[in-house]
Formats: sequence, structure tokens, C-alpha cells
Amino acid sequence: MGKKFMFRVPEGEEIVEFLTRFLVSQDIRAGIILGVGSLEDPEVGYFDREKKEYITKTLKGTYELVTLIGNVSIKNGKPFLHVHVSLGDREGKLYGGHLIRAKVFVAEIFIEELDEKLERRKFGSLYLWDPINLDSGS
Ligand code: ZN
Repeated sequence: MGKKFMFRVPEGEEIVEFLTRFLVSQDIRAGIILGVGSLEDPEVGYFDREKKEYITKTLKGTYELVTLIGNVSIKNGKPFLHVHVSLGDREGKLYGGHLIRAKVFVAEIFIEELDEKLERRKFGSLYLWDPINLDSGS
């Protein structure tokens, strides 16, 4: 418990699938994740509250992975990665959102495992953690 990992994801891997496989292989059930690098054809999502679904957009080409930040918790009994990204184009313009998938050119990743028990449950159309309750001391 409380292990830290730093590694480079191999070029050509789909980043979300690869990182999820890493979490399962290390049995990481809670943690934080950070990364920088460069991604190809990243697909990002924006949650539309009225439609209750993600609007997705694929950015064609290679983008700087300016920031990857997210967390690990349990969903349906398995480690689940929730990641957001900031992506930069050649002019330095930023795009961002909920990362759905992307092909790795370079991805330098840091993961810290935490001693937490967080399980996602369905709240409406989203899988979320239970909100913290300051009164019950939990
Ligand atoms: Zn998200």
C-alpha cells in the first residue's frame, strides 16, 4: 500500500486501456495519476448535463499532453481510471476534457497508490463516489 510508480508507456499503446491494465496488474484500487507527453488522435468528452451524456470530439493529429491528471477508484469491482487532459496544438492553443482514448507517442506517467476505499455508484447517468459527510465523521 502506498506504492509510487514512474514509467513511460510504450509508443502506439491506447493510453486508457494500457493504464487500466497496469492498475489491474498492480492491484491498485485507489490513487492519483499524473502525466505529460504527446498523444495522437486524442478523443475527449464533455458531459452535457441536459442530454445526460458525453459529447465526444476526436482531435486529429499529434498534441502535446500538457497535463494528464486523474484518479483511481473501484467501479464494478475493478480498478477504474478517471482522467482529464489538457492538450496543446502547434500554435500552443489548448483543448481539454475527459479523456476517452488516445494513441501514445510519448507518455511519462506517475501513479501514487492511496489507502482509500472509494467505490463508484450510479447517480443518475454518472458513476460517482458517495459525497463526504462531515457530520457522520466518515
Ligand atoms: Zn471526467
